[in-house]
Amino acid sequence: MSNVAVCVRIRPLSEKEVQYGSIVPCIRRSDQESFTFKDDKEEESVFTFDRVFYEDSIQADVFEFVAKPIVKDAMNAINGTILAYGQTGAGKTHTMEGPNMQNLDDSSAKGILPRVAQCIFEFIQAADETSEFLIKLSMVEIYMEKIRDLLDATKNNLQVKENRAKGIFIAGVTERYVQTEKELLQILQVGLANRAVGATQMNAESSRSHCVFLFTIQQTNSEDRSMKTGKVYLVDLAGSEKVERTGAEGKLLSEAKMINKSLSALGNVINALTSETGSHVPYRDSKLTRILQESLGGNSRTTLLCCCSPSSLHVSETLSTLRFGSRAKQI
Ligand code: ADP
Ligand code: MG
Repeated sequence: MSNVAVCVRIRPLSEKEVQYGSIVPCIRRSDQESFTFKDDKEEESVFTFDRVFYEDSIQADVFEFVAKPIVKDAMNAINGTILAYGQTGAGKTHTMEGPNMQNLDDSSAKGILPRVAQCIFEFIQAADETSEFLIKLSMVEIYMEKIRDLLDATKNNLQVKENRAKGIFIAGVTERYVQTEKELLQILQVGLANRAVGATQMNAESSRSHCVFLFTIQQTNSEDRSMKTGKVYLVDLAGSEKVERTGAEGKLLSEAKMINKSLSALGNVINALTSETGSHVPYRDSKLTRILQESLGGNSRTTLLCCCSPSSLHVSETLSTLRFGSRAKQI
């Protein structure tokens, strides 16, 4: 099996969408992972993914399949990345964070992030006593190809650098050491609050930027002092919807171009990683792929999670999301 998985999650219809109907009953399923999709012009496309989560899927199932194996590998120094892709409103943030990051008491609804936080500390509890752990958290937002530190609002144009000791890294990014799950969740909440404030100041929608969460798990063996480090990146991508070409101008148009550029760079990188030909992997084409370079492909594990609306109002965006996913990896 390849180190890259592409999954799809279709959210339930919202109350407002119910009257317009769902496309899901029109999907002909040949098995759990493959389906035939008929678009509004009656043209059929067949899609196959590593896993499809339909409207009735629960957060725990998505976490178990998509994230837990990646966290487990990170404990063994294998880097991993999970990316949520899709149009605004398709369920990326719901899947990554949950419906309400400020209130995580509703444990069944919480998303991948708080579950990863919990899982890391469970693995630490279960590890043998010769292992000493250091857990670090960083959070950045990429807006208009600029990297902003979400844990320190004064750092708003960070650079990606590379050296032999550290590999590829974001120079000067805040790294918060955390000792408990609770502390980790508190810092996540601070970062998300900063994101919301920043978006308002820039007069931007947070759906127009990529949000990148990085967990670093550093382990030292207390007997021989040997060290290993694993990283887990979770990325809530900017909305993939096409901005009306005719209507958009000024800032909206340049935002759209940047988002387009970085999402297609991501697609190209994943495609190069999954194709057999050993083709050149164009990591340098965007800030996002550059940051993720050492956690995409190679020895690391990547899951692209394509989030879709089931509403018949969004057929063309849904189709374009499914195409992005299936182009990224030919299964
Ligand atoms: P995105 O981040 O892709 O813009 P959101 O995650 O904000 O989309 O989801 C849009 C709306 O749909 C939110 O109100 C969210 O609570 C709801 N939603 C998304 N996915 C689900 C789901 N799996 N179950 C229930 N509600 C969902
Ligand atoms: Mg969102």
